[in-house]
Amino acid sequence: MSPITAPAGTTPRSGAPPGPRRATAPGRTGAGGTAHDGTGIQRQSTHAGAGAPLDNRIPEILARVDLASLVDRYAGQKRRVGARATYRCPSPDHDDHHPSFTVEAGRWRCWSACARSGDAIDLLMWLGRVDKGTAVECLAEMVGLGRPAKAPTQSPTTQALPAEAAERLLGQFLSERGWCPETAAELALQVVTDQRGRPRVRFPFRWQGETVGWQDRLLAEGEPRWLSSAGPIRCPYEVDRLARAHEVGALWVVEGISDCAAMIDAWPDAAVVGIPGASGLKPQWAQAFAGLVVYVVADADDAGQQMRASIDQQLGPLAAATHHVRVRDEHHDLDGWRRAYGDDNRFEAEIMRMVDGEPWEVTL
Ligand SMILES: [Zn+2]
Repeated sequence: MSPITAPAGTTPRSGAPPGPRRATAPGRTGAGGTAHDGTGIQRQSTHAGAGAPLDNRIPEILARVDLASLVDRYAGQKRRVGARATYRCPSPDHDDHHPSFTVEAGRWRCWSACARSGDAIDLLMWLGRVDKGTAVECLAEMVGLGRPAKAPTQSPTTQALPAEAAERLLGQFLSERGWCPETAAELALQVVTDQRGRPRVRFPFRWQGETVGWQDRLLAEGEPRWLSSAGPIRCPYEVDRLARAHEVGALWVVEGISDCAAMIDAWPDAAVVGIPGASGLKPQWAQAFAGLVVYVVADADDAGQQMRASIDQQLGPLAAATHHVRVRDEHHDLDGWRRAYGDDNRFEAEIMRMVDGEPWEVTL
């Protein structure tokens, strides 16, 4: 089965008979069989930099975190279960042929080459190559102690349109794209106007169902094509689909909002996230991709090449595997590529054919 399509019961939308859009079939269990909540993303680190105050959540975080399941994300080898779990050492620098790595009572230790030990925070800093603040925030999110994100406020220069006009413009946008109305509902798209009165389609960034930011795409030609909400972008686009990715063991990482939306339009259950901008992948986001087989679809241009290199560098030690999908030059991006096909079954076959396909050469 292709890693794009959801379990039996979900069919690509094009050519599919009308019916319930979202299949409710249970998620396929990935090869590792471990379900993760996929929430290892920090919202906003308050611990970055030296001299940050000691985080008083740390004891509670360490008490709540399941160290063995965290180790599962990094260690591919099957563990022996019991009070002391043993693994082959998950460090990429340690070619461990014996299970030299143990987890017991909230502490881990490599008894062999690495001669290291520590708690969950140390593990994330070591294997995830992040600073302490980022590690604490990742774990806090994982165990439900994350700091609440401040929802961005509506910019005073951005206005809502009368409902009828907004609906008409959104319909026009969808038909230009070849996207279904259900996709607009799924992604909670709406039309707003910018400070120059130009209509834009707003793509909200939702995290655990809550809007934490957005990007607004200009409907007509013009610049800037995209406007963002104030403040840093806190999560990948459609990050809540990471839970789905951990169910199936695979994740599609695509460049930008439109490509992510196009993939969702084709396969509503797709385990896909969009990275806002070719250089948009943040180190703390990469943590949440640990243990997954990651398929990267980047544009056929220099920025896309930059994104592939950045993902290889950041996900190399974390992901179960990383594959690149070549977008043919003539299609430019995934959205354009799909439109050129029309039939999503054929499109899926074509995507899978282009996974690590010739003549794509990934160079760092
Ligand atoms: Zn080791």
